[in-house]
Amino acid sequence: MLYYENPYLKSVEVEVEERKGNKCLLSDTILYPGGGGQPPDEGIAICNGEEFSIKHIGSLWHEIDGICKCDKMKIILNWDRRYLLMRSHTAEHTFFRFLENKGAKMGKIALGEVSSIIFQGDISAEDILDAEKRTRELIKEGRNVSTFWINKDEIRNYPDLRIKLERIKDEKIRVVKIEGHDLSACKGVHISNLSEIEDFAIVHFRMGKRKEVKFVIGEMARNYHYRASQSLRKLMWKRNLDMDKIENYLENLENENEIMRKALRDASKDAKFNVEKCGEIELHYLFLPYAEKKIIQRKALEIANHNKAVVVYGIGESNVVCIAYNPSYPWARNEYMGLLSMMNGRGGGKGNFVSGSVEDAKKFVEELKKIICEKALQLHGDENGYS
Ligand SMILES: [Zn+2]
Repeated sequence: MLYYENPYLKSVEVEVEERKGNKCLLSDTILYPGGGGQPPDEGIAICNGEEFSIKHIGSLWHEIDGICKCDKMKIILNWDRRYLLMRSHTAEHTFFRFLENKGAKMGKIALGEVSSIIFQGDISAEDILDAEKRTRELIKEGRNVSTFWINKDEIRNYPDLRIKLERIKDEKIRVVKIEGHDLSACKGVHISNLSEIEDFAIVHFRMGKRKEVKFVIGEMARNYHYRASQSLRKLMWKRNLDMDKIENYLENLENENEIMRKALRDASKDAKFNVEKCGEIELHYLFLPYAEKKIIQRKALEIANHNKAVVVYGIGESNVVCIAYNPSYPWARNEYMGLLSMMNGRGGGKGNFVSGSVEDAKKFVEELKKIICEKALQLHGDENGYS
């Protein structure tokens, strides 16, 4: 296959040996059919002066977008895309060998402008950065990359070969060798020297059981390193910190933040609603800036569900305003929605709870409290009430 023999071939003339509808069996091809995380190549077939997009679907059968009836055709490869994939693919081999040496297990690869590797194993952020550094060193050294075929029974002669035997069905195995670094069984298309990658950058690392790294190469990698260094220095200089102090600084900040959050949680738990009687209805109300939404909501619903009560409250942070009402007072919702739209707020909710936000949450609570009380006296007032 020409894409193996000369992966740098950008166009070729081939013969059409068989035809079935819009599918052609060709004498050879430069189009990689895809596999091993490397997507299929894109290309154009020129046949009788006309252009068709063409895709290799396997075993030299090609799918052509249209009907072309020539005996010979020229195939032109979308080279920019393929070259990016070849380089990214070889970068993936180089990088992942370092992680495998530390016990990582490959899951899934998806190559592209930004490539992704999903894997498992006890790998830390330091390991990732170390593997990135060493990958960049090998790129700089310009290590050679070569390929050769072996028989399945020769595998034992290559103890360092990275291979997923359960996935290998063929008798012949293609081995990709990165000089002095890695042997890997792979059917993809690769470059012949690591220097072609130019540069390499990990742009994302997701921890957890199923880990994922995303990387870029070439110009994009260079830009990424540049931007990362710029934003780090901006962070440092604004705070008058050295590079080795910044991590500590952020950790302290996080710890302090956690303490504050806990204090706010405790304050929310201890918070008591004010109560006023409006006719037969208990009106509970509260405005508590930075209170924890969920805790206050739970309390409000508890009161509304078990008492003849309407609960009105606001939280300063993000200007949340809420109402919870005993299901026997459905009119409370309309009063809430009415005031909300009058104060240009937005909101909604299910059952006997509605939440929304307005610009001035404190004022909203005061206003709504008055409205609810008036309405309550109108509908449910008695001689013991205020009416
Ligand atoms: Zn490969």
